[in-house]
Amino acid sequence: MVLQKKRAETAQGSSDRSLLVRDAKIWIGKGFSKRSILIENGRIAKIGRRADSRGARVVDASGLCALPGLIDVHVHLRDLQLSYKEDFATGTAAAAAGGFTTVLDMPNTIPPTDSPRLLVEKQELASKRVRVNVGFHAAATSEDRRIEELARAGAFSLKLYMPKPIAPFNVERDAELRRLMKNAGRAGIPVTVHAEEMRASTGPVRADSFKQLADARPPLLETRAVERITEAQRAVPCRVHFCHLTLESSLQRVVAGSSRLTSEATPHHLLLSARLLETLGWRAWMVPPLRSETHRQALLAATRSGALDVVASDHAPHTIAEKKRGPRNSPPGVPGLETTLPLMLTLINKGLLEFPRLIQLLASNPAKIFGLNSRGALRPGDHGDVVLVDMKKRSRIDSSRFFSKAKYSPFDGLETRGAVVSTIVGGRLVYENGELVGEEGCGAVLRSRISR
Ligand SMILES: [Zn+2]
Repeated sequence: MVLQKKRAETAQGSSDRSLLVRDAKIWIGKGFSKRSILIENGRIAKIGRRADSRGARVVDASGLCALPGLIDVHVHLRDLQLSYKEDFATGTAAAAAGGFTTVLDMPNTIPPTDSPRLLVEKQELASKRVRVNVGFHAAATSEDRRIEELARAGAFSLKLYMPKPIAPFNVERDAELRRLMKNAGRAGIPVTVHAEEMRASTGPVRADSFKQLADARPPLLETRAVERITEAQRAVPCRVHFCHLTLESSLQRVVAGSSRLTSEATPHHLLLSARLLETLGWRAWMVPPLRSETHRQALLAATRSGALDVVASDHAPHTIAEKKRGPRNSPPGVPGLETTLPLMLTLINKGLLEFPRLIQLLASNPAKIFGLNSRGALRPGDHGDVVLVDMKKRSRIDSSRFFSKAKYSPFDGLETRGAVVSTIVGGRLVYENGELVGEEGCGAVLRSRISR
């Protein structure tokens, strides 16, 4: 595996990975300052006021802000037998267009990523097709030995989907939860959790409308799940990352708990509320479902004050035909890679979020939590992953123009202020002014530290 990685990197060559980003605005201390970034051989060689291209290709960034390449730790790139919904090439094209230079893909594919062999097969297939860097989560499993093997093969976490585990796992048994955590702790990778305790659901599920479906998955399910998982984690030296939390109380519980607990929220739970289900129906159907306006506002306020660790898109593409099958059969999930950054930049422009917080939520914290060394910041020596944004540019979200195969969005028609202009992955321009300029395979497959 190590051998293959080396081969992939040398095949990319290095001469075309030298780039000078000239005169960008970079956040330094308490404000923006004009700097140029020289990237050589895929790494940041120098950041300074004076620009010396040393023969590198030059990108004029005057008037634009340079951010560290963003990291989305929760995406579903699908591919394999679900490639009709999304594949590695289109999903990572969407990532590049959205300013994400690294994404971590979820294991609920067909076949599921629940064995080292299937993980390695996914890594090999992806390496030829991805336009940004991609790492893979694996499914939580009750097989002790397999956990160590998955970690060694480079899995970034073990995903526990509490409503319906991806691999055989008895989620009802606390002892099984603790064993998973113990093994993950030993293997050195986190457990990522979809926190909904379905046992706490009350009454028969009616599914005549999306509103009823959402009502059957109330906030209590999340509260119970977070309680149970934090309780189980207390005695085990394991890291737990909670996916897409929707409640301020959940964030506070994570803050109050062990330093090994981290939290994530999506732009849709931060910005949209449940009443949209009545007007948008399938376009706004995802799990956990959208919450009340009161819950949404509390979640956003907690995010602003620093209680949240990570914003992730939970990019979950489906075909429109599938989504339109009615409440009973409509698969949950919305695409998010191309809307997340413009929406977050809009929050900054409205004075609802501070710039340094955005960098924490979308770059530095994800890098720290998932051990993505030398990423998530702009520092000499780091990987040359950079996104250039125009903070003033106004646009309207238009899903018909997505690079993703999933051409729908609950944000369709919304006006945004702040847009991605260029995305640079390892010193190579992949996306520029609305065009994909990076080829399939120009991104790298990343493996968690333990495999090296
Ligand atoms: Zn997901």
